[in-house]
Amino acid sequence: MAESRTLSRVAAAKKNPLEKKKQVIAPEGTSFVDIGVEEWLSDTLKNMSIKEPSEIQRACIPPILAGKDVIGGAKTGSGKTAAFALPIIQKLSEDPYGVFALVLTPTRELAFQIAEQFRVLGKGMGIKESVVVGGMDMMAQALELQKRPHVIIATPGRLRDHIRSSSGAVDLRRCKFLVMDEADRMLSPTFVPELEVILPLLPKDRQTLLFTATMTESILALRDAEDDPKKQPFVHMCDMSTSTVNTLDQFYVFVPSQVRMVYLAHLLRSEDLQDKSVIIFCGRCSTAELMTVMLKELGIRCTALHSEMTQQQRLDSLGKFRAEVIKILISTDVGSRGLDIPSVECVLNYDIPRDPTDYIHRVGRTARAGRGGKAISIVAEKDIQLIQNIEERTNKKMEKYEVNENEILEELNEVTAAKRLASMQLHDKQFGEKTHQRKKKRMAGKE
Ligand code: AMP
Repeated sequence: MAESRTLSRVAAAKKNPLEKKKQVIAPEGTSFVDIGVEEWLSDTLKNMSIKEPSEIQRACIPPILAGKDVIGGAKTGSGKTAAFALPIIQKLSEDPYGVFALVLTPTRELAFQIAEQFRVLGKGMGIKESVVVGGMDMMAQALELQKRPHVIIATPGRLRDHIRSSSGAVDLRRCKFLVMDEADRMLSPTFVPELEVILPLLPKDRQTLLFTATMTESILALRDAEDDPKKQPFVHMCDMSTSTVNTLDQFYVFVPSQVRMVYLAHLLRSEDLQDKSVIIFCGRCSTAELMTVMLKELGIRCTALHSEMTQQQRLDSLGKFRAEVIKILISTDVGSRGLDIPSVECVLNYDIPRDPTDYIHRVGRTARAGRGGKAISIVAEKDIQLIQNIEERTNKKMEKYEVNENEILEELNEVTAAKRLASMQLHDKQFGEKTHQRKKKRMAGKE
């Protein structure tokens, strides 16, 4: 009965998610102090050239300061992180202790990025934050956790490992805030086993803050599951109907599928993209690695980001790209969500994602904060339907990107030879073999 009531509410919310309650939020031009942020924090923001709160901040900071649970929906780059970090830091400064807040996020790079914002914004009060993610030294993390940092920013798998490895290692009993960033992914079945271990350790009277760029039924269901209106979370969804920004130019290049790499190399060497800061997205780690080795063979400087790399390699790679030491980053979808690198001028989709949401996340890495940007998708015959689905979702037609086919033909032999060499190198170093063996073991364990 209760379940059918919840379901019917979810269905009603789906019709028009904003219908339920018209929220009044402070108008544009309101200052940080006007929405309850203290002077010292507002000064920190000024030093970062952040002068006015964005919509998601104007909407969410007051209810968070007032002690409410909040669900915030906004596109990436809208100032989502500060929308939860600022009120948490302010409350923490009133009564500093650890562990005061736990932030869960699906990817390791996002965890480091969020920690960086806590570090910068909380400098004035001497905040201690700790990043707990896979791929980094477990012992060093355990020692950090023992010191009770104010804020833990974690990926769920590693935090669960710490909880399991020693009882009491992670003391969340007095935690005031649970934040789930990229909540749509955090609440997907992928993370259920980890959340089942972590969430029971948190006090029931904590505040829960969910932030997402994609509103899903499971998030709306959480709102509607609470019967007591006083306890119902405050929900604010910024306009997400136009899912890509107007300053983004979107193109496609139609290619025969066997020569995608040749087109890619040509694009990177073209006058248009040469010297630009570019992220290339691939569907698989093996494609990303092959492309990285191949482009290096061709003398094109680039660096990779995928889950077959160690976490230190991933951080080094991202660091070089962020500092513009290397201007081409080849990434799987581990880099598609939330990463905030203002200088990215172009996103190249080497593989077209099946889910239009992934496309929106990927291209959201460029044209940030009002700047211009370009997205180019390399499209073969089999991808046409996927492109149509994306266009339907973004409500925008991609334009044809003109390339000189004769020049591409001239580069064919050189690129094919480099690709062959790259394949051999990957084979020699048995790329992906460890993961393959791990998977085999896991499957055998299930039988
Ligand atoms: P996020 O949506 O959290 O990925 O934030 C994207 C970027 O916007 C970060 O580099 C923040 O420093 C910046 N930012 C956050 N709040 C504001 C604001 N109110 N005005 C301008 N930039 C902001």
